[in-house]
Parts: sequence; structure tokens; C-alpha cells
Amino acid sequence: MSSIIYPGSFDPVTYGHIDIIKRASKNYDLVYVSVLDNNKKSPLFTVEERVKMLKDVTGDFDNIIIETFGGLLIDYAKEKNVHMILRGLRALTDFEYELHMAQTNYLISGGTLETVFLPTDLEYSYLSSTTVREIASFKGDVSKFVPDCVAQSLYKKFGY
Ligand code: ADP
Repeated sequence: MSSIIYPGSFDPVTYGHIDIIKRASKNYDLVYVSVLDNNKKSPLFTVEERVKMLKDVTGDFDNIIIETFGGLLIDYAKEKNVHMILRGLRALTDFEYELHMAQTNYLISGGTLETVFLPTDLEYSYLSSTTVREIASFKGDVSKFVPDCVAQSLYKKFGY
């Protein structure tokens, strides 16, 4: 059975993430969408809120498991017995960081953890959770970037 882990902050999930999840679910038997629980970052949404939003927007896929993880990705992958990580690439600016992460994970896993990249759909190449949070913080319309239930959560967070 082919399995892959798609890790990230998903703070919050956007149409860009959903596109990657959809494409992964077509090509792998099982996709773990794994929300990083990292106390050092100060996310807008709690890890529970991020998991709930992901579950709400991926209800149509039956080969996806959404859960949280902390610590090193290589340890989590080992625990799941998965040898493949998935990351999305938007632009050259993503590439350098992602390349270093992929090479580091390969090295520290003793050559057992591979990373594959999916280039973003052109439609979403500009889109990031950071931008969405920023627009929402100024009470802007985020309906083009995230599904309605996520937009509602953002509006609630920012009190409008
Ligand atoms: P990070 O792990 O840097 O906090 P995110 O949680 O926002 O990043 O994203 C998780 C993964 O989804 C990363 O591989 C990121 O490149 C990818 N991603 C984010 N936004 C998009 C997008 N618009 N299109 C494709 N991939 C994306």
C-alpha cells in the first residue's frame, strides 16, 4: 500500500492546500495530512481548530487521515511506517527552503525518508496562509482563498 505524509501548519487550510491534498489522494492509497503542533510558533488557530477545519473541507475523500504531530518529522514518519513526505511548491522562493528540509530529512533518517514535491496549480501559486491571515486581520474578503467554513472561522477570530 502506498502512503504519504503531507505535513504543515495549515493555519488555516487554503484552496492551495486542498488542491495538493486532492491530487495526493488520487495517487496514493493513504494520505496523512499532519498538522504540526509546535509551541514555538504562535499560530492564529489552535491545533484542534486547524484539524477540525481540515476535516470539514476534506470530508469527500475517504483515503485521508488528519492528525497532529509534534517533534521531528522523521520520528513521526517512522511511527507511521511511511517513507514518503509530500510538500507543495509555489515558486522559486519555496524551493531553497524545501530542498534543504528534504535533504536534511533524508540525511537524518539514514536515507529512508524521501520527499516528493507537487508544483502548485497556477491558480493558487500566489496563495499562502500568511496572506489569508493578513487580509482577514484587516477585515478583508477571503472568500476567493478559502472555503466558506474557513472564512467564517477567520471572520469570527477577527470579530466581524
Ligand atoms: P509551513 O509548513 O511552511 O507552515 P503550510 O502549512 O502553509 O507551510 O503549508 C504546508 C505545505 O503546503 C507546504 O509544502 C507548502 O509549500 C504547501 N502550500 C502552501 N500553500 C500552497 C499553495 N497555495 N499551493 C500549493 N502548495 C501550498
